Amino acid sequence: MRQYLKNTWDGLFTVLVGMKITFKHLFTKSVTIQYPDVKVDLPERVRNRLYVNMDDCIGCDQCARACPVSCIEIETVKSMPAEDLGKTSNGKKKALWVTKFDIDIAKCCYCQLCVFPCPTECIYMTDVYEFSEFERKDLVYNYATLTSVEVEEKKVNFEKFQAEKEAQKEAAAKAKAEAAAKKAAEQAEQKESPKPPKKDGEEK
Ligand code: SF4
Ligand code: SF4
Repeated sequence: MRQYLKNTWDGLFTVLVGMKITFKHLFTKSVTIQYPDVKVDLPERVRNRLYVNMDDCIGCDQCARACPVSCIEIETVKSMPAEDLGKTSNGKKKALWVTKFDIDIAKCCYCQLCVFPCPTECIYMTDVYEFSEFERKDLVYNYATLTSVEVEEKKVNFEKFQAEKEAQKEAAAKAKAEAAAKKAAEQAEQKESPKPPKKDGEEK
């Protein structure tokens, strides 16, 4: 009987200790928040989702080369001599069409190494951290602003321009070779038919 009462008291005591802790927490400040209605304040230099301002991108590829996990893919096409692509906001002249600028954010480790080498400061980390997707492929962000038709047009124009340049080079080389051959033939002809010897009485 005595043991029974002791066990009952131990049980009650344990419950009271647990309830004391519970009641204590009822009157302390909450450490959780009602996310997503309430959001935490982020530090000033937080590194979350990357963003690229394509108006300022010159397609130099330095960010892609700095990335340790190769999650940036850039493709460019040279502009034509007659095309003026304008300048970036810090005065750099644009000379390349950026036909592809993809960042696979699923691979990104948020190291920010791509940000530092950018000469126009157009790639930077934002405080956006809500970008979950159902499909992994949707985590590849396409920043290029040209349409697929425009990309094709730029590529075709550049190939045409290159072909014309090559043809001009070949024509110039051919003309040069022909001129050299003509000159060599003339020199050979002169050697084969030397001037006749001078007669007596002729002024020497
Ligand atoms: S933050 Fe790092 S991993 Fe992410 S794209 Fe830039 S260099 Fe690559
Ligand atoms: S380093 Fe800057 S300017 Fe160069 S390709 Fe990357 S984002 Fe564009």
